[in-house]
Amino acid sequence: MSIIIAIDLGGTQLRVAAFSPQSSTPLRVIRTSTPTLRDEIFLEISKAIDTLKTEGELLGICAACPGPTDPARGIILSAPNIPGLENYPLGTLLQERYGVPASVQNDANMAAVGEWRYGAGRGHKDLLYLTISTGIGGGVICNNQLIIGAHGLAAEFGHITVLPDGPLCSCGQRGHLEAISSGTAIARYVTEQIAAGRPSSLAEETNITARDVAMAARQGDALAKEAYDRAARFLAQGMADFLHLFNPSIVILGGGVSQSRELFFEPMQQLLQKLVMSSAYLKELQIVPAELGDDAGLLGAFVHVSLQQTVLGDLANSHL
Ligand SMILES: [Zn+2]
Repeated sequence: MSIIIAIDLGGTQLRVAAFSPQSSTPLRVIRTSTPTLRDEIFLEISKAIDTLKTEGELLGICAACPGPTDPARGIILSAPNIPGLENYPLGTLLQERYGVPASVQNDANMAAVGEWRYGAGRGHKDLLYLTISTGIGGGVICNNQLIIGAHGLAAEFGHITVLPDGPLCSCGQRGHLEAISSGTAIARYVTEQIAAGRPSSLAEETNITARDVAMAARQGDALAKEAYDRAARFLAQGMADFLHLFNPSIVILGGGVSQSRELFFEPMQQLLQKLVMSSAYLKELQIVPAELGDDAGLLGAFVHVSLQQTVLGDLANSHL
């Protein structure tokens, strides 16, 4: 039997899975904590692959990685939550050790592919995927082709400017969507407003999270509600731009923040109607929650190897 190895390198958890090319249910998954030292990451991954490759003949490997990657060179450019992974040649190391094609891909891009093939995007040729949690990431599929750009850096939906000179973003620039509409940004806004003297039921809390803000908003806290309204408003603004650029038939929203339907998802959808340049962009457009949860990136990495190339092509019609 042949096997494909898919890797999900998360900020806290590392998953290495063996799949048969014919099935999206993994034969076996090995889970460990993500090592904190650079060299231990390759050791931990290769230890898991050595165990899994007893299941069959290895066809290929793909790792879904946080942060920007350069798939053509097999390099993780940086990983915001994993220190020491700057310019880390994980793909090259895996290819040298196992003698099969091995690629590194951005995890949000792989989640887009996973949702396209097995999740909420099944049957769509033109798809946008956005994940809104601590940060904002995304992926674009146009005419069944994943758009990654010349160096794998395309579709950074979180890093478009929606408020010039606005709040500082994790990337170092100002006023990016991620700095206003991510979970981290929602919590930070409430914390800053409380520090500036605004009243809130969260005033006595330390380390306020987006989840705390959502709970307070549902209980009628005006500042908490305002924080979500603001996040939804700027997301709608960004989303209108994405629709103008890509004209998708479906937008899939993943991540914890987008699960807040009445606070975030629905207000964003309503605003969008006023922000598009023509209602034609919204005609038959579906905006739906993601279906695959934490498995989207891992499944996308599996799909990526099974299709062997970023041109996803005719296999789009062969959904399992
Ligand atoms: Zn940014």
